[in-house]
Parts: sequence; C-alpha cells; structure tokens
Amino acid sequence: MTELKNLMISVSGVRGIVGDGLTPDVVLAFAQAYGSEVGPGRIVVGRDSRVTGEMVKNAVWAGLMSAGCDVLDVGICPTPTTELVTEHPDNIGGIIITASHNPREWNALKLLARNGLFLTAEAGEKIIKRVNESDFHFAHWDKIGKVYPYNTAIEEHIKKILALKVIDAEKIRNKKFKVVADCCNGAGGTILPQLFEALGCEVVFLNPEPNGLFPRSPEPIPENLGELCLAVKEHNADLGIAVDPDVDRLALVSDEGQPLGEEFTLACVTRFVLSKTPGDVVVNASTTRVIDDLAQTAGVKCHRTKVGEINVAVKALEINAVIAGEGNGGVMYPEIHVGRDAPVGIALVLQYLAESNLKISELARQFPQYSMIKDKITLPFDVDAKAVVEQLKDSHAADNLDLIDGVKVLYDNSWIHIRASNTEPIIRIIAEAPSREETAALVKKFKSEVMDLQ
Ligand code: MG
Repeated sequence: MTELKNLMISVSGVRGIVGDGLTPDVVLAFAQAYGSEVGPGRIVVGRDSRVTGEMVKNAVWAGLMSAGCDVLDVGICPTPTTELVTEHPDNIGGIIITASHNPREWNALKLLARNGLFLTAEAGEKIIKRVNESDFHFAHWDKIGKVYPYNTAIEEHIKKILALKVIDAEKIRNKKFKVVADCCNGAGGTILPQLFEALGCEVVFLNPEPNGLFPRSPEPIPENLGELCLAVKEHNADLGIAVDPDVDRLALVSDEGQPLGEEFTLACVTRFVLSKTPGDVVVNASTTRVIDDLAQTAGVKCHRTKVGEINVAVKALEINAVIAGEGNGGVMYPEIHVGRDAPVGIALVLQYLAESNLKISELARQFPQYSMIKDKITLPFDVDAKAVVEQLKDSHAADNLDLIDGVKVLYDNSWIHIRASNTEPIIRIIAEAPSREETAALVKKFKSEVMDLQ
C-alpha cells in the first residue's frame, strides 16, 4: 500500500511537499482512485506553473489512463479555466495540479466533479477510501486511456467573461486604464495579457513568466505586495492587481500604491453586482462583515457557510446567489460559474471603475471600514487541531457563538473566528473590529488561550 505520510488529505484532494510526502506513488494512487471512481470517460487535467508540475502531471496521467480514462490536457492555465472546461458535458471530471498559494516546494491535486465544482465531502470520501484500500480498476490493455491536447481553454474563458451581461468591454476600453499586474510567476501569465488586451488596458507586468520560480511568498496578501505597490506609484497606474499561482484569488492595490487588502476584492465586486442585479449573497464564515453591511443596504440577505470553496459554491447554487465568494480574494460570479475566478473579478472591478468614474482609492473610501487580522498557530502534524478548537467551544460556552465552522465568537461590533485548517496543520485565527488595536487585542487574547489548550 502507498505510504500516506506528511500529507494533508481532504475531500478536495491531497497536498504536500514534493518528495517529502507528495511522492509519485501518492499522486498515482489518488489519480487511480479518481479514475476508478468516475471513469471511464474523459478527464480534464490542468496545472499551475510549479516546477514539479510536469512530474506530478505524468503520474496523474498514468493513473487516469490505467483506469481507462482519457485525458484532456489543458496544460498550464488558471484553476477557473480548468473548471470551465470540466463543465463541458463531454467531460466527466477534472484534476487540477496546484498547491494554490503554498510555497513553491508544495504541490497538490484538486479533484473536480463533472459540473466543474470541487468534489462534495461524500464524493471525496469515496476517493480516499479507494486510496486507503488500493481499490483500483485496471483497464484491459486495449482500453487504456489516451491523451488529447486542448489549446483553446484560455481563449474560451476570456470569451465567456466578455460575453457577461454586466461587462461592457467597449466602455472599459474607452477608459484606457493603466494597470500593473503581478503574476508571481504563476499561471496568471497565461491569461492576463490577453484579458487586459481585450479590455484595452495598458499593462505593466511583474513576474509574468509561468515558470514556478515564485520570487516572493505567493499569497496575495499586503505584506507580499511591496514590489507591486511601488510599481503602481512609479508607473502612475490606475490600479494594481495580484493573483495567486493558480489565479483563483485576486488582490487590488490602489492608484495611491496602497494595498486594499484581499477582503476588499469581494466587497468591491459585491457592491457593484448588487447595484446591477440585487439578490442574495453567499460568503464563508471568515469573510469581512462589510459584506453583511452591503447586503443590508441593498435589502438582500448575506448567507454564511463553512470555510471551503465547495461549501460556498453549493449554497450559492441552492439559493441562486447573484454573487458569492471568500474574503481571501475569491470572487465567484454565478452568472459564469460558482468557482473562484480572478480574471472574472478583474473584469468586474474594471467595469465598476469605468461606470463609477471614480479612482479606486476614492471608491474604497466609500466602504465601511474595519480592521481585520488573519493569524495562525502552526501545530505539529500529530496534534489534533480540531480537538483544540472543540475545547475552546466549551470554554466560551457563555458567549454568543456561531458554530457553523470551528468557533466564531460574536461581540457587538467585532468577531473572532478560530478553526482548524482543512489543508494545512494549523489553527487559523481571524478577527475583525473597528480599529487595529481592538482587533490585535482580541487576537492576542485568543492566541494565548489556544496555546494553553495544546
Ligand atoms: Mg489559489
């Protein structure tokens, strides 16, 4: 049996450091399990730009083909692009090879259902069971799968964005926006040049080569965007944008060179979409309360779900949300699909700027202002993060709690959310309050409580 060690296994796939946990055996086992469960049929395989992607891809292909599945190879492209191809009725599933915002030595498989969404918990459990039991289907030699290259995925993705009813490309083009875009040498470089060209923007690119050699920590959070902020000022640009390596998260930098924080991305897009097509909104438990404020102003409901893209997506479909997503820069616009999609987010932000006739810095000042801190405590692999969170639940039983995901303690004008990560051996702590000082004090108090519980 394949050794499963130093890995983060979840219903959405498997993640680890390549060579120290994420070995070819592990990748092969998951691809065999997936192919055995959903096959035979054609499965879309895409990847981000990681140096290890080629090796992992070959193991994925072998696993799928051995189970009698064909591979539709979309190559290096954004996660949302692979999701859109997977949705096509001729395809029965998809695997994305990306460790998203994790450092460059990591890689992972994200497993998709045939509708282009991540696997549900139930479907994911079936794959894990097959891996644990080495329960694989091996196709007869003449039924082994084949690989078909597919080169138009990016083009089709851009076409779908431009065809959105709320997007008036001509109006954006007339504004001749100047944008600085930081792709962090991820897959962003495969789509953003064409997207900005279609929208008539003048672009200065930072790190556009999709070579996986991330020059900085690839998470698009303010502390990693110093080079981008400087470049926006230097080039006198209207906007700075940063995407993570698989292009499902988007962060904005203002024309004044200030990072607007990734929570602002969804808030900005939500305000725009609600102004066009009022309707309910879905976000996860950790997302800024700005979204609740915007929903309240628009007279619609803001629904909250457990953290995890699939939870937001399922709820968004269920209640027919007009906009959904995650505060980490993950914009889901159900009009095109309920997957986090940075290129869609970029088009919506540019449309909003074009229609508002405001600079992004002016627009940002119109939003409710809160201070959010995202912190974490790293645990050894053998400590049960979920058990630690459970104990916290008991010690705060007298408070106003939201238990949809871990523990969220709600105060009059602030909140703190503590949960075990689904993808890493850490406890995430997220707090939001009207001022930086109040938020920091809240985080400090709960961090020491968590440390005492371990
Ligand atoms: Mg990502």
